[in-house]
Amino acid sequence: TMTTKKKLIAGNWKMNGSLAANEALVKALQQGLAAAPASCDIALCAPAPYFAQLQSLLAGSGAMALGAQDISAHPQGAFTGEHSAAMLKDFGVRYAIVGHSERRQYHGETDDAVAAKTAAALANGITPIVCVGETLAEREAGRTEEVVKRQLAAVIHVNGHCISEIVVAYEPVWAIGTGKTATPEQAQAVHAVLRAQLHHAASEHAAGICILYGGSMNAANAAQLLAQPDIDGGLIGGASLKAPDFLQIISAAA
Ligand code: PGA
Repeated sequence: TMTTKKKLIAGNWKMNGSLAANEALVKALQQGLAAAPASCDIALCAPAPYFAQLQSLLAGSGAMALGAQDISAHPQGAFTGEHSAAMLKDFGVRYAIVGHSERRQYHGETDDAVAAKTAAALANGITPIVCVGETLAEREAGRTEEVVKRQLAAVIHVNGHCISEIVVAYEPVWAIGTGKTATPEQAQAVHAVLRAQLHHAASEHAAGICILYGGSMNAANAAQLLAQPDIDGGLIGGASLKAPDFLQIISAAA
């Protein structure tokens, strides 16, 4: 295969963790990676209150990067509860998940809001992990392709930035936290659609853009998913909270 780009395995801790649990998890991951160094990029997308703790736990070992689960579209000011790109950068945050389905669903994030957050991340040198994905009702209505294309189109022409700086995550909503993983064939089919759309928008960069799969990826199914030609990594929720499982997914990406 012509693919030489590195895969990306990103953990999405969601609203889980504590000082004690985070330290135990990171140390177990570091021990596992010392024994079997990964050949993929790794990110831990953690709750913002723990950025300082994680920055210091991750310092010195370059193996794992820190990520956020959201980012404000605004640089500063009267936006209660939000965190700016500059604040994230103060703690060495390298990635930010943008437009996760839980934020679209529970916080009313529109495609426009997701595009504005993507732009804020890019303008500040933070790699946005832009999530797209259809609900079960949309899939059953045969609208999967239309939905993910609309969601990707919203971020594809962010002003002044090359689309190749973006990571895309395909996360079918019906597969998130449900134990119902998309089959490798179902996932690959949508990834191919997204790749074609990227190719159309930025032909010279499309092959280099990481398209992650997310939705009940685990130690048992990761290898098959990651073997698909257009699956370049994973965005992992539940299984990223257990060191042995996350390490197994990382080795499946090697
Ligand atoms: P899950 O979550 O792995 O627990 O399904 C994935 C995600 O929501 O990013």
